[in-house]
Amino acid sequence: MYDFVIVGAGSAGCVLANRLSADPNQRVLLLEAGGRDWHPFIHMPAGIAKLVGRKGVNWDYVTEPEAALDNRRLWWPRGRVLGGSSSINAMCYIRGHARDYDDWARASGDPRWGWSAVLPYFKRSEGNVRGANEYHGAEGPLTVSDPIHRNPLSAVFIAAAREAGLAESDDFNGARQDGFGWYQTTTRAGARCSAADAYLHPVRDRPNLTVVTGALAQRVVVENGRAVAVEYRRRGAVQRAEAARSVLLAGGAINSPQLLMLSGIGPADALRAHGIAVAHDLPGVGGNLQDHLDVCTLTRCTQKVTYDQLSDIAVAWRYYVHHDGPGTSNVAEAGGFARSPLATDDRADLQFHFVPALLDDHGRNRMPGHGYTVHACGLRPRSRGRIELASADPGAKARIRANYLSDAEGYDLNVMIEAARLSRRILAGRAFNPYRGEELLPGAGQDDDAALTAFIRRKAETIYHPVGTCRMGTDGDAVVDAELRVRGIEGLRVVDASIMPTLIGGNTNAPTMMIAERASEMVLAA
Ligand SMILES: Cc1cc2nc3c(=O)[nH]c(=O)nc-3n(C[C@H](O)[C@H](O)[C@H](O)COP(=O)(O)OP(=O)(O)OC[C@H]3O[C@@H](n4cnc5c(N)ncnc54)[C@H](O)[C@@H]3O)c2cc1C
Repeated sequence: MYDFVIVGAGSAGCVLANRLSADPNQRVLLLEAGGRDWHPFIHMPAGIAKLVGRKGVNWDYVTEPEAALDNRRLWWPRGRVLGGSSSINAMCYIRGHARDYDDWARASGDPRWGWSAVLPYFKRSEGNVRGANEYHGAEGPLTVSDPIHRNPLSAVFIAAAREAGLAESDDFNGARQDGFGWYQTTTRAGARCSAADAYLHPVRDRPNLTVVTGALAQRVVVENGRAVAVEYRRRGAVQRAEAARSVLLAGGAINSPQLLMLSGIGPADALRAHGIAVAHDLPGVGGNLQDHLDVCTLTRCTQKVTYDQLSDIAVAWRYYVHHDGPGTSNVAEAGGFARSPLATDDRADLQFHFVPALLDDHGRNRMPGHGYTVHACGLRPRSRGRIELASADPGAKARIRANYLSDAEGYDLNVMIEAARLSRRILAGRAFNPYRGEELLPGAGQDDDAALTAFIRRKAETIYHPVGTCRMGTDGDAVVDAELRVRGIEGLRVVDASIMPTLIGGNTNAPTMMIAERASEMVLAA
């Protein structure tokens, strides 16, 4: 018997486990389907390039065929390990635009999700090496650092953006988001600082905190409208953990709605179709799926300065012996935020990540030679997708219908075309002259809207930010209320990226940890 049972030790789950178990009177159980985060590629930031295809730490999802993307099934990596996706992500520390949160306050009907109300929780989480100021915290567990190693091409990218008339920025999370510059990363002394590093490992010896890995939660037990326990499978046996106060789902934007549906909470017809007894008809579960779609421009480099073909052994030796060098790099060192002509207000609608290497198909398509890649994504997609059950078997993967570029006005596609165009404008800058070789993708002659549209349909991929599938709100389709309580069920909350009503304009790790910081206070006060 525990007070709280948390499902999922990812970005949100680790924060919850720490904050809830800080009260020695609360007995907290944290269940994680994956294993421990021992793998060295998790901890060496540049190891991300090697982690990418490693099945042992990854749910390794693929979407259903995407109609607007030539019916391709897109690969969606998600962390299945202590730290969750924060153990395999690219470590860029970004919060989004301040007004994104004012939108949340409106959607949830609660000013506690507005920017001025959530900023203290970002700061409480953050341990920025630059120190504290109006926008930043320095004392929080999540260490945020400036790059130790900077590839010369990343500096060239920033210079080229300046030439293209785009603003410079030395802090994407300060007074203004727009601009180009160096990403700060969730790293500490050159090593990844995942949610597990920041929040879980330091408190593992608390007697009131139990962490069980290799435990796949397969059902929340609901009795008389109240969540009372979680059933999970571990080493072939089903076990049951009782929750006296609350069950907290932190399985992420794919698994939290899946687990709700497996527990009989979701669209009644869809549940019955799988033979699942309906505990509560909640049609919005799994809906409202949003993600950032990304298009890459790849150029050959005429000088051997990129990260392509670095000797793994030399990088690892320098990293482990001297704690510096390319091993400390998150690879996406530089980037920026800009407004396309289609932006509907003064918020950036495009984000760029520059990679001084040839990166095709998430790095899974190894390309010979040296080159560099500009990732560009549309930040405010209007298309909506859905997570659906494929089966009532908890071991089966849920179906992902991202529905990219499906909005009726074609707005999302047009933003992607603008993203590809601006990437090229930056890459054409004089700063790249000493390095520029052949453009590999989209490739010579692929200039007009029709050619770029075909290219986007053929090559665009996720940049890993699915959210919204257990949306917070006040209407009939909302899944959780402003305190993240599942509507219609007592003692059950969802606390992870799935509760975002709308996708924020940026990367989603820090916002998810903020959600859990905010929620932990709500949970303890309840
Ligand atoms: C490759 C990649 C790169 C990214 N790069 C960045 C970046 O640079 N910056 C950034 O800000 N964001 C980035 N992101 C996104 C960010 O990491 C995620 O948005 C964030 O981690 C989501 O947090 P979460 O708590 O919702 O889910 P997760 O962190 O995914 O945690 C969910 C956890 O729950 C566990 N779980 C799920 N179902 C069950 C179950 N039934 N039983 C038990 N356990 C379960 C999972 O194994 C996992 O550990 C990236 C993501 C990926 C995948």
